[in-house]
Amino acid sequence: MADLPNALQPFHEAIKDCQKCALAAGRTQVVFGSGNPTADIMFVGEAPGYYEDKEGRPFVGAAGKLLDSLLQEIGLQRSEIFIVNVLKCRPPQNRDPLPEAVEACKPYLFHQIELVKPRVICTLGNFATQLLLEKKVGITKVRGQSFQMQDYFVFPMLHPAAALHREAFQASVREDFQHLRAFLDQDLPPAASQEQMQLL
Ligand code: URA
Repeated sequence: MADLPNALQPFHEAIKDCQKCALAAGRTQVVFGSGNPTADIMFVGEAPGYYEDKEGRPFVGAAGKLLDSLLQEIGLQRSEIFIVNVLKCRPPQNRDPLPEAVEACKPYLFHQIELVKPRVICTLGNFATQLLLEKKVGITKVRGQSFQMQDYFVFPMLHPAAALHREAFQASVREDFQHLRAFLDQDLPPAASQEQMQLL
């Protein structure tokens, strides 16, 4: 992928033929991630869909178009953020990620976080949120709030696809982006300097 300088590029090279789980058999390509490799803000989605699998970039389908306009509404552009998924390969029929695939792919995500070093990680939907908070918690309970981790803040949000599937979620999805804007507008302390926040 041409837009990945420094250590991300060799890491992409290293995992592009990954065979660690069954998804390897059905994918067109590994969808590594894209955006600003030194971004302060990282977005973590669920898994590539049909278009992402074909193009090799995350969030290029309908959910991606919506994500772009939601970002624009709060004054952010893709070039300022880095976007990845929990799974790097498309699940068949876009089914939910299976635990064994999440386990196999998890070290890749955490290594990407080490390389990009974001201050804020926005987790889109249940899978990314539970993985990053290391807790089986429902997105509706934690959305729009920030959680202090060792090296970064986790900011869970409804997945934009929720608004595509159910109109009733549109306002809530938009609300999470407004809350993110307010969170980013604060003078954030370095993540590691604060006390670990109680998750629930
Ligand atoms: N596209 C992605 O890349 N990830 C998602 O979670 C949804 C759509």
